[in-house]
Amino acid sequence: MGLGEYRKKRDLKKSSEPGGGESSKNIFVVQKHDATNLHYDFRLKMGDVLKSWAIPKGPSLNPSEKRLAIETEDHPIDYAEFEGKISEGNYGAGSVLLWDKGEYENLKDSMFQSYEDGKIEIELHGKKLKGRFGLIKLKNSKKNWLLIKAKDEFSSKKNVLKNEKSVKTGKEIEEID
Ligand code: MN
Repeated sequence: MGLGEYRKKRDLKKSSEPGGGESSKNIFVVQKHDATNLHYDFRLKMGDVLKSWAIPKGPSLNPSEKRLAIETEDHPIDYAEFEGKISEGNYGAGSVLLWDKGEYENLKDSMFQSYEDGKIEIELHGKKLKGRFGLIKLKNSKKNWLLIKAKDEFSSKKNVLKNEKSVKTGKEIEEID
């Protein structure tokens, strides 16, 4: 997989989104995306791309709240810094807020194997999301996964989504321009 599908869907000159460039450490980001339907884009750096899932209800720190995560096209690594407005008429038009960002640790042997097997186990070191998470692909589904918080010292029944501000700018979604 590469960035072909990502680029195909966008006119990058018009949409102001990154086109794909350099890489860095094992990072993850969550971008709150006020598109046609509000969702949270969960992205994990794997190799030269950000593997991406759209989570309609957003992530949860509560292990009993399994959140549907729909796999979307790989994004370029530099998308991890993106916050801004995708203008009308472009794919995914609407505001993107950098809701969380940090490093992650793979808890298994190989991320690529975990991805292929549909069973990713990671520990997140974000500002909002911390601790162990599983990302489990649903059987007989091409794109549907579940994001599940594992029980640890960071699991909580508090609604983490109430912390709405950007970790990059401190803005709320209405303030993004
Ligand atoms: Mn999105």
